[in-house]
Amino acid sequence: METREPEVIRDKEAMRRWSRGMRSHGKTIGLVPTMGFLHDGHLSLVRQSLTLSDVTVVSIYVNPGQFSPTEDLSTYPSDFSGDIAKLAAVSSSGSDVIVVFNPRNLYDYDGGRNKKTNGGGGGKVVSCVEEGGLGHETWVRVERLEKGLCGKSRPVFFRGVATIVTKLFNIVEPDVAMFGKKDYQQWRLIKRMVRDLDFGIEIVGSDIAREKDGLAMSSRNVHLSAEERKRALSISRSLAMAKASAEQGQTSCKELKNMIISELVGAAGRIDYVEIVDQETLQGVEDIKSGVVVCVAAWFGTVRLIDNIEINVTV
Ligand code: AMP
Repeated sequence: METREPEVIRDKEAMRRWSRGMRSHGKTIGLVPTMGFLHDGHLSLVRQSLTLSDVTVVSIYVNPGQFSPTEDLSTYPSDFSGDIAKLAAVSSSGSDVIVVFNPRNLYDYDGGRNKKTNGGGGGKVVSCVEEGGLGHETWVRVERLEKGLCGKSRPVFFRGVATIVTKLFNIVEPDVAMFGKKDYQQWRLIKRMVRDLDFGIEIVGSDIAREKDGLAMSSRNVHLSAEERKRALSISRSLAMAKASAEQGQTSCKELKNMIISELVGAAGRIDYVEIVDQETLQGVEDIKSGVVVCVAAWFGTVRLIDNIEINVTV
């Protein structure tokens, strides 16, 4: 089948001009923000966007603003030409229009360090307060939702996410934006931000794409050894066990969490958190009475993996 390579736009002014041009022709625009190294999870968001809007912008940008100084931005995997080939294969079916937005750096300040040339971000971006007046000054914070779950061990992460997504929204001006429920907290936080700040953008949450054996797809899986990957299956397995148990009447979150913890520990995973929270507020729940989501973050070797499962039993 003939494939069509997507156009690549690297400059933010050019991106905005392209979007406004499309809009002036009555086209609706879908945005799929990614950090690249695309897999089928990303591609499922792209396919969904193609069905919901006339044209789709896939941004590929490793956002330095969401990495803390102790997290290594430089080891984030990338394969720009592979990403383009995958997107070309997705858009091979006739009239689909996909454009890739791949800016080098979206911050005026990047510390002048650690330049990546593969289309990733610049150096570390820190706040002007942390950097003696030189850093980035304007940050978007979603005050409560940014705090729990991943926010506990990654305190600047969601500040960076909300800020970069706002910047992408302002540059691309989409009608609809796609986010994966794999990053459940991120999806909820962006939905809340859009509501609180009156962005005229529909936020769509997409189901988690999994490998055949259950492992949630992630760009980071490439860093797992074969043995770590096998042990990491304990995450999806334990989440499925917890869901089945809740559906059979177990309402105690303590019991369900213990079940998951013992599976993860049995597989020598280092647990960051196992939490059962309300699907909207992400506040901890003790007894399941309405929709909850079970969220896990755990390390296997040097790789931190996250996964979750929604449980919709009502008692
Ligand atoms: P990332 O490149 O990891 O920032 O992810 C870009 C988007 O793809 C985010 O909205 C993620 O939630 C989504 N995504 C990543 N992995 C998956 C997956 N396995 N299933 C569904 N969506 C995913």
